[in-house]
Amino acid sequence: MTFGLRTKLSLAYAALALLLVGIISLFVNYFFKIQFNDYVIAQQKQSSQNIVNLVEKQYDASNDAWNVSAIENIGMSALDQGIILKVKDLNGKDVWDATVHNNGLCMQMLSQMAQYTQKYNPTLKGGYVQTGYDLTNDFQKIGQADVGYYGPYFYTSNDVSFLNRVNTILVIVGIASLALAFLLGAIMSRRLSRPISKAIEAASEISRGNFKQRIKEQSTTREIKQLTATVNDLADSLEKQQQLRKTMAADVSHELRTPLASLQSSLEAIIDGIWEPSRERLESCHEEILRINRLVGDLEKLERAEAENTMLNMTELNLSELAQHIVHNFETDFFKKSVKLNFVCDSVAVKADRDKISQVIINLLSNALKYTQKGGRVELQVRDNGRSAKLIVSDTGNGISQDDIPNIFERLYRADKSRNRVTGGSGLGLTITKAIIEAHKGSISVSSELDKGTAFTVSLPKSRG
Ligand code: ADP
Repeated sequence: MTFGLRTKLSLAYAALALLLVGIISLFVNYFFKIQFNDYVIAQQKQSSQNIVNLVEKQYDASNDAWNVSAIENIGMSALDQGIILKVKDLNGKDVWDATVHNNGLCMQMLSQMAQYTQKYNPTLKGGYVQTGYDLTNDFQKIGQADVGYYGPYFYTSNDVSFLNRVNTILVIVGIASLALAFLLGAIMSRRLSRPISKAIEAASEISRGNFKQRIKEQSTTREIKQLTATVNDLADSLEKQQQLRKTMAADVSHELRTPLASLQSSLEAIIDGIWEPSRERLESCHEEILRINRLVGDLEKLERAEAENTMLNMTELNLSELAQHIVHNFETDFFKKSVKLNFVCDSVAVKADRDKISQVIINLLSNALKYTQKGGRVELQVRDNGRSAKLIVSDTGNGISQDDIPNIFERLYRADKSRNRVTGGSGLGLTITKAIIEAHKGSISVSSELDKGTAFTVSLPKSRG
């Protein structure tokens, strides 16, 4: 059986509140009772002493006589408070005795007190307790007062109604806390479960192919924030990949159509006998096929570079060493074309994918070589720029027109289409380069002037430490 997060949280809150209220009530009850009983005992001692003091005052020393009717009043009001008073004179003769005066009332009083006390202290083993007090006048003993009650302590009706009030208050506080806990629990669980439900809704929309779906609900809970960010990122990358697939298919068909059409018409002309299948013509067809092949290869590389943005094999990398290595491999190509290659470097380390960064340097260097005429110069610089590492490839080549600069990083864009047929570029090199750099959280920029030269600047975040 499964329960919703909201039900579970609400129940958990309620159970916790119930437990806390229960524990607090038990503690309050236990400690309060101990304190209250101490108070009752102290109170009873005080009352007994007051009664004794009052009785002492009823002795007339000059006549050696007791004011019995006053003592009777004192005794009766003591009986009201649950105390049985017996007064004896110096000879042990009864002056006044509550049990003699009204034994029935005394018994009734005692059983009443026992009943009250037992009700709140069921484990108490109480019984009749009597304490004797010496009665004195001018430091002379004049008799004895025995004060009896249900002991070790007893509750009067006032005490009982006080305890009842306290219990009622405790019950009210308990119920109010429970209600509050329920309410807060419901609010809290709603606040927690709502964004999760939204995330589930969005995720199922995404799984149905609606990649535009995003979760807009904000949450202050860290885990929920991460969850919604992850779902949104997932939607982002799925949307991007869908877009990539679409443009890739469009680009491929667009780019292949022209060379395939020219190949088709050339071959058809040969088959129809319009053209001689001369070596030159066949070579031109072969050339076209090679170009298509290269294009397909580049498209594959671009697809990988863009799709694998998330799968970089990051290692600690000495950028200057890597650049030096690539420069070595390029030296003969530059020499053959009589273009001078200059290499300047600071020692700088980055955390990056070695193969991908190699490809960036190779792409930029081969472009520089491709678009620089004989006798020109190309320079590769590796610079430590504080927080980032900089790779600058500058040349004294053709340059790029200001109109073309914004487009050169776009897939399949070639500044000069006719020239590119000769140079053999497919217009994907810079697109791949940019995709790789962005996957490394870096950036690439270009500055160029027609017929003067071009400089590409790559900035990569440096590895820390
Ligand atoms: P390609 O394979 O055609 O070289 P790229 O994506 O590498 O494709 O470059 C796109 C276009 O940018 C090129 O066709 C070229 O016109 C221009 N370009 C790139 N690098 C340079 C450079 N160093 N000098 C002049 N033009 C360049």
